[in-house]
This record gives sequence, C-alpha cells and structure tokens, in this order.
Amino acid sequence: MKKITSWGRSKFVSPNLIEPDTKESLQNTIISTKNFLTFGNGRSYGDVCLNKLNLICTRKLNKVILYKKKSGIIEVESGLLVSDLLPIILKDNFFLPVTAGTKFVTIGGMVANNVHGKNIKKNYFSDYIHSLKVFDVDGNLIECSKKKNKNFFDLTVGGIGLTGVIYSIRFQLKKINSLKLEKKNIFFKNLKNISDFKISNSKYDYAVTWLDSFSSCNNIRGIHFFTKHHKKKEKINFKIKKKRITFLHEYLFKLFDNFYLYRFVNLFFFLSHYLNFKKYTNLENFFYVQDKYIDWNKIYGKKGMIEFHILVPENFIIKFLNEFFFFCKKNKIFSNLIVLKRLKQKKKYINFSGDGVSFSADFSVNDNYSKIKNFFIKKQSKYFYNFYYAKDSVVSKKEIIFDKQFYMFKKKITSLSKNKKISSILSDRLGITK
Ligand SMILES: Cc1cc2nc3c(=O)[nH]c(=O)nc-3n(C[C@H](O)[C@H](O)[C@H](O)COP(=O)(O)OP(=O)(O)OC[C@H]3O[C@@H](n4cnc5c(N)ncnc54)[C@H](O)[C@@H]3O)c2cc1C
Repeated sequence: MKKITSWGRSKFVSPNLIEPDTKESLQNTIISTKNFLTFGNGRSYGDVCLNKLNLICTRKLNKVILYKKKSGIIEVESGLLVSDLLPIILKDNFFLPVTAGTKFVTIGGMVANNVHGKNIKKNYFSDYIHSLKVFDVDGNLIECSKKKNKNFFDLTVGGIGLTGVIYSIRFQLKKINSLKLEKKNIFFKNLKNISDFKISNSKYDYAVTWLDSFSSCNNIRGIHFFTKHHKKKEKINFKIKKKRITFLHEYLFKLFDNFYLYRFVNLFFFLSHYLNFKKYTNLENFFYVQDKYIDWNKIYGKKGMIEFHILVPENFIIKFLNEFFFFCKKNKIFSNLIVLKRLKQKKKYINFSGDGVSFSADFSVNDNYSKIKNFFIKKQSKYFYNFYYAKDSVVSKKEIIFDKQFYMFKKKITSLSKNKKISSILSDRLGITK
C-alpha cells in the first residue's frame, strides 16, 4: 500500500486510500466505511490528517458549484485546491478573503483547520463562510451556517475533520484591483512592545512579522511587513509555476545543516529585504513565498521537520519571546523561520480561534528535538497558550490543560459518534476519540 504522510514528514501511514469522485460515491463510502478520516492535500504538518485504517481523500471532488461574479459569492466542492481556484477567480479580480501561506491546500482543509492569514482585520477563514454542506457520520447531508444548524456548524469549523465530511463550502471572495501590493517594511533591533503592530493598522490590509532566529533575550530583531492592495485596476493574468527541489538541494542541506547554514539563511533573508527599495511587492511573493519550491519540506531529509505553532495571549508575548530566545541561545538551537501574526476572533471554534499573537517556528527533527518539545510543553502553563492542531504532533492529552473549549468539543464529538467512527492519530493522541 502507498505510504502517506503530512507536510512535516515525521509520521507515515499506509491506510486504504479511497477517492470518491461524485457526491453519491462519497455518501456511499461514508456509510460503508467503519473507521476513517477525511484527507485534503496533506498540507497539515502533523498527524491531524492521518488515520491508519482508511483515508477518504476529497481531491477528486473539485468542482465550482456556484459563482456569483457580481457579489463574489462562491460555492465549491471541498477538494478544490486553492491553486486551481486562483486562476478562475483572479481573472475576475477576486482573491481569497483569507489565505494560508501555501496555495496547495483544499478549501475543505481550510475550513476543518479554521485557517488564518495575514489580514489585519478578520483574519480567520471562518469569518467569511456563508454555509457548509456536510455529510455526518451516518451519511446524512446537513446544511449548516452561523444561523442554521449552528451547533453543528460551530463544531465543524476548525473541527479537525471529526464531525463528518464537508462536501461543499459557500463563502465570500474579496475584490482586488491588481496583483500588486504596496508595501512598508519596518526593521527593528529590539522588540519591546507588540503594539508596534498597530503602527500602520489603519492604512494597511495585511501584516506579518519575521524574527531573526539569532536574536537574544531582551534584544529581539526582525521585520514588520505591512501591505495593502494597489488601487489601480489592471487585468490579471495569473499562472502557477511549480519548481521542485533537486537531489543537489537535498545533498547540500544535509551537508551544511548546522549553525552556519541557519546564520546564513537568517542573514540572507534580512539583507534581501533591507536592500530592496521597491515600493511594491506582488501577491505571489507576499502570500505564497513558501511555494517557490512546492516540495521544499523534503529538504529536511528522512527525519522530517516540526513546527511549533501557538497562540499566545498578547500580554505574555514579549516575556515568552525573551524566554524562547534565551532557551535557544543556551542550547544552541536555531530555527530557520520564525513568524508572528496578530489574530482576532471571539473564541468559538476548537482549533486556534481567539485573540492573541500567533507564533510559529520551524525546526529540523534532530538531536535537540526533545529539548524543544519539552520547552513548548512546559511553558504552556506559564504563558497560557494553545497549540495549533494543524501543525502539532507532540502534545498529549495530559497537556491540554488550559483550553476549556477543548473539553466541550470532546464531549460533543463523543455524543455525535458513539462508536468513534471518525478519528485521526491526533484525535486519539489527545484523547478525543480514544
Ligand atoms: C507551507 C505552508 C504554509 C502554511 N501556512 C499556514 C497559514 O499561514 N495559516 C494557517 O492557518 N495554516 C497554514 N498552513 C497549514 C494549512 O493551511 C492547513 O494545515 C490546512 O488545513 C491544510 O489543508 P489540506 O487541504 O492539505 O488538509 P489536510 O492537511 O489534508 O487536512 C487537514 C484537516 O482537515 C480535515 N479535512 C480536510 N478536508 C476535509 C473535508 N472535506 N471535510 C472534513 N474534514 C476535512 C482533515 O481530516 C484534517 O483534520 C500552512 C501549511 C503549509 C504546508
């Protein structure tokens, strides 16, 4: 059987892979399969999208069902990839209202993880969903929204695939004039106050902060990136390029996977922006810079990579960062990408909704792995953060201690499916389905 993994490539499974290509065959599959999980495009980093027995992959359910060009309302089947949707909507000057840092995700996967973007306001995908059609565990098609079958909707959004299989999503697109974005970069040498984020809030649409992995405690360096859509209307012609990493990239990374490589990557990133005086950037470079090589995760080799992605309450973020950089320096641990985003939403959904600062840091899985893991687990009780399940592969049920929403979710999921028909390695690990 084919081995299946997620983006982090640290866990592999060989389940029965079922790929229904019509609504009816999807329904029949759900009715006849005893234990399963839905699989989008496996762009989650950990085991939230993995099941050892059966995976129902939605990739062949990829039609646009309805597209209202006047209002920008669209309904699509859940297996449609953002990379296939963009060429269709961009030629009408529409863009996604919120996007993840890669276009190679399905719309169903975006809903099930309640994906967030760089938007300054309304930065969760859930803010733009009108309604969903979902097959429940027994194969009944349920239409739900913020008004209709509200409880089921609230469980399904960010519900990590445990309520059923989302068949279609109706949501609001965003009108834009051009692929161009006006930009403003603010370079800082000592981040003392996260309210720096607010500097350009009113004038810009998007914001994200990059941190130099070689920063030290009380001396945090980085760049705040702000952008807004350019006002001048132009005809949009968007083509997707797919470059792959080669054997040479993999070999070089393996050879130089050390302090100097990370130092170089961080310095190169900083200088490439410091010496770039252009007033504009474009959609691909700002939102999807990580898609330059569509399989860049392979560079981390056989052991794979891990990302720690947490939502830290705003009043703790600076203290947390100081302690994180102190820990990194002391243990000679470096990440090649650390990113902050400010998120706002009344906490409604299980997966990563709420207010706070999203902190993510990538690491290769090497000898330091358990130290890093212990750090993130231990500091949770001090800084009251939640882990993002789309990226998590380490937290156990003992460690989910501060998330009241989690216990409510667990109770409701158990009552939806007494025989625990849907489960993932993550839901078993967290004790939701085991
Ligand atoms: C380079 C990169 C950058 C990223 N940047 C961001 C970011 O900026 N913000 C962010 O929030 N996330 C980000 N992510 C994470 C990614 O957006 C999410 O993990 C997303 O959910 C992956 O979508 P997928 O289609 O690959 O779903 P999968 O990974 O296959 O599945 C994810 C979850 O959704 C469930 N699921 C999928 N389809 C359905 C369906 N039809 N019905 C019910 N459940 C379903 C699965 O069971 C699983 O629980 C990034 C990932 C990568 C690789």
